[in-house]
Amino acid sequence: MLYTEEKLKQYAEKIHQAKLIISDIDGVVLVDRQISPGAVEFFNCRPFVFLSNNSRFTVNSLATYFRKRGLNIDNQHIFLAGVQSINYLCSQNFDKPIALSANKELKKFAQMQGLNILDRGDWCKAQKVVLCSDSELKFREFEVLINLAARGVSFVCANPDFTYPGESHLYAETGCVLAALKSAVPTIRYQIMGKPEITMLELALKKHRIEPQEAVFIGDNPKTDGLCAKKAGMDFVYVDIATGISPSMLFGYLARNLR
Ligand SMILES: [Mg+2]
Repeated sequence: MLYTEEKLKQYAEKIHQAKLIISDIDGVVLVDRQISPGAVEFFNCRPFVFLSNNSRFTVNSLATYFRKRGLNIDNQHIFLAGVQSINYLCSQNFDKPIALSANKELKKFAQMQGLNILDRGDWCKAQKVVLCSDSELKFREFEVLINLAARGVSFVCANPDFTYPGESHLYAETGCVLAALKSAVPTIRYQIMGKPEITMLELALKKHRIEPQEAVFIGDNPKTDGLCAKKAGMDFVYVDIATGISPSMLFGYLARNLR
């Protein structure tokens, strides 16, 4: 208990000193689809950015979700790996046909950004592939992706995660598809947009004009969040029920000790 109190104090000190708080969403702000107690009160008082490997939602839909639950948030507070993969191709003015393996929400978003998104039946014509979380991906389409990889078409992969947790079971994430493709075509050309790569984090820091040393990263995954923070040279606050500091303990403590 003493250890927990001490650790909470240490974490709170780091967080209070930071000019910007970068936080993961799943397993941190949201646990079992519920906002962690204290998180809304705390984030409504401090500058923050949510940085997630999520490749299912758009920034708009997630911001609306949080706003309905009392959080003062707008689009510049949210960075999502799926959306960033699409934004990246827009920033490159990529106008060639793209096979986007993603759900309908992301596909609609990509089309609205003006990208040339192929129908699933035409993926063989792709000159770039974007991999996001895609619950509709069929084996036949996966074979098309294998052949695109073998032909040297390059891939943008939203994140390297194998799964994301649901309430009662695990969902397959983008990294599963990438891992299977790598086993089929070891020479596959790809880049990863999400954590632990720091592309998205750097973008967030740049947008908020903050140096890495001035920010702190709250996450529940040392392999993605922790490594990302380390690569950027940023302090990391690890929350996990297993470590003794759960998200609700941390945000509850922070909300009770607002400065
Ligand atoms: Mg997480």
